Amino acid sequence: MQTVLNAVKTHNFSAGPGILPADVLKQAAEACINFDNLNLSLLEISHRSKNFEAVMDESRELVKELLGLGSGWQVLYLGGGASLQFAMVPYNLLRTDGFAAYVNTGVWASKAIKEAKLIGDTRVIASSEDKKFTFVPKGYEIPADADYLHITSNNTIYGTQMKSFPTSPVPVVCDMSSDIFSREVNGNDFGLIYAGAQKNMGPAGSTMVAVREDLLGKTGRKMLSMLDYQVHIKGGSMYNTPPVFPIYVTMLTLRWLKANGGVKWIEGINNAKAAAMYAEIDRNSLFTGTTAVEDRSHMNATFVMTKPELEPEFDKMWKAAGISGIRGHRDVGGYRASLYNALPLESVQVLVEAMKEFEAKFA
Ligand SMILES: *Cc1c(COP(=O)(O)O)cnc(C)c1O
Repeated sequence: MQTVLNAVKTHNFSAGPGILPADVLKQAAEACINFDNLNLSLLEISHRSKNFEAVMDESRELVKELLGLGSGWQVLYLGGGASLQFAMVPYNLLRTDGFAAYVNTGVWASKAIKEAKLIGDTRVIASSEDKKFTFVPKGYEIPADADYLHITSNNTIYGTQMKSFPTSPVPVVCDMSSDIFSREVNGNDFGLIYAGAQKNMGPAGSTMVAVREDLLGKTGRKMLSMLDYQVHIKGGSMYNTPPVFPIYVTMLTLRWLKANGGVKWIEGINNAKAAAMYAEIDRNSLFTGTTAVEDRSHMNATFVMTKPELEPEFDKMWKAAGISGIRGHRDVGGYRASLYNALPLESVQVLVEAMKEFEAKFA
């Protein structure tokens, strides 16, 4: 196992599921064979065993700790991806006689809006759709009588990111799927935070939801059990069998983050990776960025080629350099380098070198 993992030298820029720390993968692999020295796999024991309950407790606690959440917060790990949260958020927070305010910053925000509209009165108060989501709207007014404001902190597909969060008179719900734990935020400024695990905190299959408990139970709606946060809270995030393996690997990843110095530590590295990446995009005559400079994402750097006919040549070069996963999203084209927490600065340097070599050869 050791030698196999050490032999992997691929620079993984995948947009999601994304790269995980090598050490986490090794521990996860071991737990599939022999978990906690039980001579049983993690995959074949009861989720109600004390060994798994410890995993659930720790993975919930680590979220609270890393987001700096105070009392009154609950952390859940649910199935259904971040996409199910597009529906669960309005179902649990949007009153039958109220309305919700949404900011539309891209594909994911648009999907969240689509679901919310099916549940209740949903108003889009700001949008960057008219400019193909290449910037983040700012300076919009948030209605003080809305049930909540929904925002998306990082626009994974178009490569924009909110550099600061709006001061809001109503609880802020934030989809942090692609930049959670990548930079310091004050979790207490929000009312609900959710994130599909597979971008920056673990494997696909579980979604983290952190919610202020006092916001719940006020919609006037009869609630289906599986879609009711209060039911999951009461069940200790085990109302039904939770996705045990993704939760375990998420716990390992959060442990890794904490042990190395936490969010502050990774933010420094993420800033260095983004600086190196964008410096080369701006310097290199064959590439250009696709978003407003002040809104550039530190997690997903999008760029296109000034001579698109050369794309096949560049593709050969980065593949030869051991790079994987920088092809752009099908909606945007070009390239996207995802710089998630577990991606080392060294990988960015390898990509920058490939871009330089490419320019030297073809410019
Ligand atoms: C990937 C992503 C989603 C969708 O996540 P699923 O777990 O596939 O449902 C939602 N929001 C954002 C910001 C994402 O990056």
